[in-house]
Amino acid sequence: MHFNELNLSEELLRAVDELGFSEMTEIQAQSIPLLLQGRDVVGRSNTGTGKTAAFGIPAVESINEDDRRSAAVLILCPTRELAMQACEEIRKFAKFKRSVKACAVYGGASMERQIMELKRGANIVIGTPGRVMDHIRRRTLKLESLRTVILDEADEMLNMGFREDIESILADVPEDRQTVLFSATMPPEILAITEKYQHDPVHIKIKSSQKTVELIEQFYFQVAMGRKTDALKLLLAAYTPDSAMVFCNTKRMVDELTEELTKSGFRAAGIHGDMKQLQRTQVMNSFKNRTTAVLVATDVAARGIDVSGIDMVFNYDLPQDNEYYIHRIGRTGRAGLAGKAYTLITGRRQLHDLKDIARYTKANITELPLPDKSCITDMKKEAIALEIAAAGERPGEGAYEILEMLAAKGIDYREAAARLIDSRLSAELSQLPEFDMPKPLKKGSRSGAKTVRIDLNIGRNKRIAPNFILGALVDATGMSGQDFGKIDIYDSHTTVEVPESEYDYIIDSTNPMKINGHPVEVKLYKGGSSKERPGRQSGERHSGGRKRPEFGKKKRTDIFGDQLPDRRKRMKKRH
Ligand code: ADP
Ligand code: MG
Repeated sequence: MHFNELNLSEELLRAVDELGFSEMTEIQAQSIPLLLQGRDVVGRSNTGTGKTAAFGIPAVESINEDDRRSAAVLILCPTRELAMQACEEIRKFAKFKRSVKACAVYGGASMERQIMELKRGANIVIGTPGRVMDHIRRRTLKLESLRTVILDEADEMLNMGFREDIESILADVPEDRQTVLFSATMPPEILAITEKYQHDPVHIKIKSSQKTVELIEQFYFQVAMGRKTDALKLLLAAYTPDSAMVFCNTKRMVDELTEELTKSGFRAAGIHGDMKQLQRTQVMNSFKNRTTAVLVATDVAARGIDVSGIDMVFNYDLPQDNEYYIHRIGRTGRAGLAGKAYTLITGRRQLHDLKDIARYTKANITELPLPDKSCITDMKKEAIALEIAAAGERPGEGAYEILEMLAAKGIDYREAAARLIDSRLSAELSQLPEFDMPKPLKKGSRSGAKTVRIDLNIGRNKRIAPNFILGALVDATGMSGQDFGKIDIYDSHTTVEVPESEYDYIIDSTNPMKINGHPVEVKLYKGGSSKERPGRQSGERHSGGRKRPEFGKKKRTDIFGDQLPDRRKRMKKRH
């Protein structure tokens, strides 16, 4: 269905046309007519399917000359970026409609400026729930004339703890308003809101998570523990994307990885929720204009970010749930363009989790070997050949004159071309950033990796044995028994040697943890403070890891079996 089949005003059709939209997406075709009629709608559709226009076009259309004083449409979004982005898009729809004044309000930005904008008669207000509540309390945002409330990414807003704010806003606005809700998933909390605050809503569900995902080629690499950063550098150097996103599960990881990549010469920048608004905007702009080639992000910061033409997405960390995987890889391959998604995994547990994602998304995720230097060289050769072959225009006369000059010196065409190509190839290869070559995944060889000690506040007094400790650690982290080193059991605590590179992850995934029914706290071992001596009985001391592989293996023979704890539960802890 074409936009001009809708009964839209001339001004809107022109704006939509200028944006290059012609056909409506499915969610648009189904929801826009209903929204124009004033119906309440619950819409479910995947990321990248044009939901902003689905609610933004009817919102802009609903504004008339009388809406000069106060907000007629309120749109709630989970993050500042989404609020800004939706506001920008709505302004584009309103380009030829003078009466529309759209204004975005979100935390981390000047209150005064937002108040000014609101006072100037903003009639479409787009904001994050917290800041919207702030303005309502200060009476700088009045809801008396509100006709439409739209919740964009409602599920995400609930995930982020905005439920109270949302309910209090919905309870505050005029009873006869139109309430519209878009959400990727429909958990019971959303249905509850729907029932409580909507009138006879029409449910629209555009199925096929696959639709966007289908177009994306998906691969994974198995990487030795602690070598993910090297592997990522290698892949970035091999594929040289103009524009790539890298997803991490924690803000800290975003910072660390961004620093690492920048140090190695990649044009990388990070984005996450702890950054100042100005900084985030700068990062987004530099990514959009390709100054930044690699954007490292957390899920929340990246949610809904719409930058077109992203070549590839990397999952540096496995996503925390299946939906996130779809959201992440949905960043690439938008609007019918093929994209690529690469996931780095370490260890069998993650392999299991990835298979789970593949089942859920009904996608083929294919394993690839990490490219080595000779493989990268081959790729560069191929790229240069392609580029030369694709250069359409005949070279200028000057080029041929030079060839003749060279021929006179006894250098024939073939030799001349080879010399040029060679210098080009070495230039490309010398631009490869410095990094250590990742070693292939080897079972059980962790020798040489830097280690630290963790401290568990449980010891001999609770009658624990090393196997209990190790079992609990393997279970909580999904790591292999061989990844853990020496275990020393003292009277009231125990220390375990762990790879330094996994320290953060181990701490995240073991708090809280229980051993033998006792809650246990895990921290960094500072050492020295205790005069206690570790237990000396045989069987309580472990060194080198000779005995333990048995233990690890026993629990994990069936890697795709169901005895493994639910991934979501486990991963949640890492957030
Ligand atoms: P969602 O909110 O569903 O994730 P967005 O609203 O961010 O999706 O839209 C994704 C992209 O698709 C945007 O760049 C938007 O401009 C574009 N888009 C939306 N509707 C259409 C359409 N009918 N035709 C072409 N492009 C569209
Ligand atoms: Mg959206």
